[in-house]
Amino acid sequence: MSELHFAQSYGEARAKFFAAASAQGLALERHIHPAARGADGEELSLDCARLGPAQAERLVLLTSAAHGVEGFCGSGVQVALLHDAGFLARARASGAAVLFVHALNPYGFSHWGRTNEDNIDLNRNFVDHSRPPPANAAYAEVHPLLAGAQWPPDQDGEAGIARYIAERGQFAFQAAVTGGQYEFPHGLFFGGRAPSWSNRTLRKVLAAHRAWARRLCWIDFHTGLGPYGHGELIQAGRDDDAELARATAMWGGLVKSIYKGTSASARLEGLLAFAAYEELPQAELTGCALEFGTLPVMQVLQALRAENWLRRHPGAPQAQREALRRQVRDAFYCDAADWKAMVVEQGRAVALQALAA
Ligand SMILES: [Zn+2]
Repeated sequence: MSELHFAQSYGEARAKFFAAASAQGLALERHIHPAARGADGEELSLDCARLGPAQAERLVLLTSAAHGVEGFCGSGVQVALLHDAGFLARARASGAAVLFVHALNPYGFSHWGRTNEDNIDLNRNFVDHSRPPPANAAYAEVHPLLAGAQWPPDQDGEAGIARYIAERGQFAFQAAVTGGQYEFPHGLFFGGRAPSWSNRTLRKVLAAHRAWARRLCWIDFHTGLGPYGHGELIQAGRDDDAELARATAMWGGLVKSIYKGTSASARLEGLLAFAAYEELPQAELTGCALEFGTLPVMQVLQALRAENWLRRHPGAPQAQREALRRQVRDAFYCDAADWKAMVVEQGRAVALQALAA
């Protein structure tokens, strides 16, 4: 049943989202990318659907595809909720507005990559770009190992990674790789040197609620970390005990923190959620990333290296391109009925808890 809500391509996901939101009579907004095109040459857009009053003081924000290809999951949950009479009735009765933002990074979604049209990791892009970027010496050290010239990677790189993990541990390696870096534009987890199109567009979407929103609950769907089909709630926002306490009150003791070292995720820079403080300064934020597990973490990392290599080698043979793109999609989207059912069930529960609070 849950399978109906999920798609096989960005275009299909976009059409399903638009159809489901239209069928509910929701207010729709489409922000078309001015330059980038999809993998099949199609138009790319960030789409919004709002249920409930435009001037609501309480806003529940559900966002998908900050990391492109991870959007197969988040889009599926969004479409499932738009088809869910029980959820919609609870939302309408709550008096809150529910804002669905579909495909924050439509380029990555369409091309089956985690980064955007500029190789930017959108969830590392929300730093103050007028100031010197955060340094990341640990990434600089592992970059040559991760982003080599060969694919499959050569023995030296692999031996270097194995040595790093043996000496410093797997989590230290994960933190070095994934924390966010601003020095290597062709590297992994690059946060960019200016606000990306998605960053600027999301800010506009949020700013439209500035005059009224006083409480914002933001659920941002991700995949690629943790056990298969298991959703981990990770507080999204500042290192702030009051925020973590609000998230814990909303979702129970299951909320993990990248600041307290309780999450499967390492500490990160430039998070999406930081946009809320600037665009909705009067609103109290309770935010989480809902991160669903797919494959073992080292397999996911290998897929990211493949994506990165492909970016740097646009002339790779067609068969290799297709194989590597598929490897990336499989690492962030388990195209299986049991996984989709787990994702929808947990996504729905988390959204209902936000409405109940
Ligand atoms: Zn993600």
